Amino acid sequence: MAQTEQLEVLVLGSGTGGKLVGWHMAQSGRRTAVVERHWVGGSCPNIACMPSKNEISNAKVAQLARDGKRYGTVTGPVTVDMATVRQRKREMVERQIAKHLQIYEASGAELIMGSGCFVAPKTLEVKLNDGGTRVLTADKVFLNVGTRAAIPNVPGLEAARPLTHVEALELDYVPRHLIVIGGGYSGLELAQAFRRFGSGVTIVESGPQLLAREDIDVSQEMRRILGAEDIQVLVGAELLQVQGRSGDKVTLSARTPSGDQHIDGSDILVAAGRIPNTAGIGLKEAGVELDGRGYVRVNGRLETSAPDVWAVGECAGSPQFTHISEDDFRIIRDNLAGGNRSTRDRLVPYCMFTDPPLARVGLGEGEAERQGVLARVARLPMESVLAAQATDQRQGFMKALVGDRDDRILGFTMIGASAGEVMAGVHTAMLAGLSYSNLADADFAHPTMAEGLSSLFSSVPPRAVQQIKPKVA
Ligand SMILES: Cc1cc2nc3c(=O)[nH]c(=O)nc-3n(C[C@H](O)[C@H](O)[C@H](O)COP(=O)(O)OP(=O)(O)OC[C@H]3O[C@@H](n4cnc5c(N)ncnc54)[C@H](O)[C@@H]3O)c2cc1C
Repeated sequence: MAQTEQLEVLVLGSGTGGKLVGWHMAQSGRRTAVVERHWVGGSCPNIACMPSKNEISNAKVAQLARDGKRYGTVTGPVTVDMATVRQRKREMVERQIAKHLQIYEASGAELIMGSGCFVAPKTLEVKLNDGGTRVLTADKVFLNVGTRAAIPNVPGLEAARPLTHVEALELDYVPRHLIVIGGGYSGLELAQAFRRFGSGVTIVESGPQLLAREDIDVSQEMRRILGAEDIQVLVGAELLQVQGRSGDKVTLSARTPSGDQHIDGSDILVAAGRIPNTAGIGLKEAGVELDGRGYVRVNGRLETSAPDVWAVGECAGSPQFTHISEDDFRIIRDNLAGGNRSTRDRLVPYCMFTDPPLARVGLGEGEAERQGVLARVARLPMESVLAAQATDQRQGFMKALVGDRDDRILGFTMIGASAGEVMAGVHTAMLAGLSYSNLADADFAHPTMAEGLSSLFSSVPPRAVQQIKPKVA
């Protein structure tokens, strides 16, 4: 065994939270190493957010070209060259990696490319990618090992060599017919993108609706939007069997409420949940406990069961977004500087980058009901927002939940053009504790999509419970 090297800070996994911890600690003068087996900078810049949004933007251009006639721009037949799509994505990823390497260099954090496995508390053995082994121990250890795509246990699925987001974002051809298993965020984003590239697409979801965590009206509107692009959707589908090989010919058999169905496709993409990368990396030897689903057990300060070991990002069970992995870093940084921040009760905004996108912050109606929160609901079709009329991007709606006992904004959901940006305004108002009437009365620039917020919040119904006015003596 190699001689043990002593560090002050050791980070396993260079995802968003991990690299930020590493850079911050090194910049603060601590001897720091970040161990990464594959993706410099983690999933986001290499195989997840950034590459998927890059390819989605290519798909949007294809769609605009097809749809140009409606706006008076006439083009010929539209075809998509996936080799160029992939090349544009690869170039963006390369720029991102180069930027990351510059920051490592400037921060003084050592990036060690290799696979890490704990052999004792706070002691990691790293099998270096270019051969050899190093053993590292540190005063403080941070885990940021992320998750990977789960492959459901369906006969024949694994043998069919299905695509995950990693391979799908590397395709240099347009699948003739793509079967997408999973009607969540990444499934829908990629389903729509490939439809726009020219694939036939069928989405197969085992739950009763697309977007399981969203309200039924949100899910239905998204299904309508995808249906209008000729994307087939099966919900409540129990997967029975897969035959064939992705990239050639596959048949998925599923039991649905309307009977057994056999879907023929050329390629199959699995986007049906995530598995934490916590198995087989010696966490038991490190004294780090996992929960029943294999995520690292942490408290609100992201401290694990082992002293001086923290976990950040998806492996810690945090909501699966880059901005949350970053917030996990901020919580740890602030607490190590004497603060007392917690992950509990943080407001988690998110956006799904379909076209139009879906954005939500705070409660939806279903969640409010489950939590027993009384809320007033306002809803505005995008059709009635003037910017949507001017640009002819009229699909979707905005919805707001406002407290019934006070005027606090409890939640905002939007399907519509620029939903993520419009949501940021409501998110800010919620963080500032503004009442909904502040947004109803705000002068939003005309004609922007955000202008709809004023109409939306002006239509909040009055309180159901009458206020008891104090008697005037
Ligand atoms: C297709 C897709 C699209 C997405 N789009 C968005 C989006 O638009 N917006 C958004 O906010 N979020 C999005 N996400 C989620 C987002 O990518 C993650 O939440 C984010 O990257 C944070 O991940 P993380 O910090 O937990 O870990 P990761 O970034 O996954 O990093 C973990 C790292 O640990 C490394 N590692 C694991 N085990 C070891 C080991 N034993 N030794 C060495 N290294 C190891 C891995 O190689 C990896 O690089 C998307 C996810 C997917 C799959």
